[in-house]
Amino acid sequence: MRDHGPAPAWPTLTDVRRAPAWQLCLGAAPLAIALYYWLVTLGPGYAVAQTAVYAAVNLTLAATAALTARTHPTVRTPLLLVAASALASVAADVTFYFLALSSGDVAYPSVADVGYLAAYPLLAAGLLGIVRRRTPGWNLASAVDAATVAVGTGYLVYALVIEPTLQVGARDLPTLVSVAYPVGDLMLIATGARLLLGAGRRTVALRLFGVYLGGVLYADTTYSVQSLDGTYRVANYLDAVWMTAGLAFAAGLLHPSFRTMIAPAPAATPDATPARLVVLALSALLAPTTVLVQHLRGNDTPVVVATIICDVLFLLVLARMAGLVKAQRAAAITDSLTGLHTRRYLNETLRTEYARHQRSGRPVGLLLLDVDHFKAVNDAHGHHGGDQVLIEVAARLRGLVRPGDIVARYGGEEFAVVLPGAALDETAMVGERVRRGIAAAPITVGDDSLHRVTVSVGVAGIPKPCSGIDALVHAADHALYAAKEAGRDQVAAAGPRLAKIAH
Ligand code: GH3
Ligand code: MG
Ligand code: MG
Repeated sequence: MRDHGPAPAWPTLTDVRRAPAWQLCLGAAPLAIALYYWLVTLGPGYAVAQTAVYAAVNLTLAATAALTARTHPTVRTPLLLVAASALASVAADVTFYFLALSSGDVAYPSVADVGYLAAYPLLAAGLLGIVRRRTPGWNLASAVDAATVAVGTGYLVYALVIEPTLQVGARDLPTLVSVAYPVGDLMLIATGARLLLGAGRRTVALRLFGVYLGGVLYADTTYSVQSLDGTYRVANYLDAVWMTAGLAFAAGLLHPSFRTMIAPAPAATPDATPARLVVLALSALLAPTTVLVQHLRGNDTPVVVATIICDVLFLLVLARMAGLVKAQRAAAITDSLTGLHTRRYLNETLRTEYARHQRSGRPVGLLLLDVDHFKAVNDAHGHHGGDQVLIEVAARLRGLVRPGDIVARYGGEEFAVVLPGAALDETAMVGERVRRGIAAAPITVGDDSLHRVTVSVGVAGIPKPCSGIDALVHAADHALYAAKEAGRDQVAAAGPRLAKIAH
C-alpha cells in the first residue's frame, strides 16, 4: 500500500494564533456567515444580535483600513476614506435597525439611506487615491480600458435597475434615492476598473480587492432587481455575499502584498494580453447583448441611451486601437537601450530630407560615430558595463546637437546624427563639438570605475560631394573609416579628397 503520509489535522489553537491576520480575516467569513444565518433562523427576537454580527464585518473593515493607514503613510488619506465609508455603512445598519425596532416599518427613504449612500463616494475617493499612488503618471490606455468596462457594465446596471426604477417610480424622493444606489455602483465600477486594469503589480491583495468589488456590485445589482420584481426576501443569500466581500477587502489590506500593490508603477502602456482582451471584449459586447436580451424579453430599453452607449464603446475601442498602434510605432523607432531613434527611423528621416533637398535645395548633414576601442570596455567591465557607456554616450550626444537634429543608434556602438539644413562645413563643426563633448569627462562604469571614452566621427553632406542617400551614408562611413585610420578620436569629412578636421 502506498503511504499517503499523515492525515491532515484540524488547525489547533496555536496554528490559529500563528496564522497571518489576512488568513484569519478570510477564515472568519464562513464562521460569521454561519452565525448570522443561525441567528436569522432563531427569529425576530434575535434581530439585534443578527445586526451586530452583520455590522461587525464592516467594523472589521473600518478598523483594518484605519490600522493599515497608520502603517502605510503614503496611502493614509485613501485608507481613512475607506474606513469612513465602512463606518458610514455600519452607522446606516445600526440606524436602520433602531428605526425598525422603534417604529416597526421603516419609511423609505430613511435617514439610514444617507449613511448607505455616503459610503459610495467615500469608497470611490479612497480607491482613486490608491490608483493615484500606484500609477502616478496619467495612463491613457488603462483609463480607456477602465472606461470600456465601466460603460459596458454600467449599461447593464442601467438597463436592469435604473431604467425600470424610473419607469415604475414617480418623480419623487424615493425614486431618486433608488436610482442613487446604482449610480453609486457605477462610480465603484469606474474606479474599481481603473484600479484593477491599471499598470502595476497584480498581487494577491489586488485580487482580494477585485473579489470585494465584484461581490458588492453583484449583490447590489441583484438586490435592486429583486426589489423591483418583488422577489427580495430579508436576510437572503445576498447578505452572505456582502459579508464575504467586506472580509475579502479587509484581508486584502492585511495581506503582505498590499505593500507592493501600492508601490508606484512605471506608467507603461498595459499590453493587450489575452486576458485583458477577453475582459474588454466581454465589456464591449455587454451593452449590445443587453439590448438584444431585453428586446427578446419584451423590455425594450430606450433606443437613444442604447445608441449613445454603443457609440461611446466604439469610440473607446478605436481610441485603444489607436493607442496600441502608436505604442507599436514608438517601439519600432526607439532604441530600447539608449532611448535614441533606431536605424529604421534614421533611414526614413534621410528619405524625407533627401526629398526636401530635391524640392528646395536645402542641404542635409550626416554624422556617423563609432566608439573607439569599445571592445576593451566590454572586456574590462563586461557587457553590462559596456551598455552603461553606450547609454551615457547617447545622452551626451543628444545634449550636444540642436533640438531639430535626429540622433539614432546606428548599430552596436555606432551612432548617427542627421542635421537638416546644415551645410558640410557646419556639419563638420558639429562633428568636432560632439567629439570634444563626449571625450570631455570620463564615464563611470560599474560602481565607481572611471573610463575615458572617445569617438571617431565621419562627416558627409548633401548636396556636396555626393548625391543620393546611399551615396551620403557611404561617404560618411568612408570618412569614419578614415578617422579611425588616422588614429581615432578624430573627425574626418567626406570630400573630393577626404579632409581631416583639425583639432
Ligand atoms: P574601434 O576603435 O576600431 O571601433 O574598436 P572597437 O573595439 O570599438 O571595435 P568594434 O567597433 O569592431 O567593436 C564593436 C564592439 O561593440 C563589438 C561588440 O561586442 C560590442 N557591442 C555591440 N553592440 C553592443 C551592445 O549593445 N552592448 C555592448 N555592451 N557591447 C556591444
Ligand atoms: Mg563599430
Ligand atoms: Mg568601435
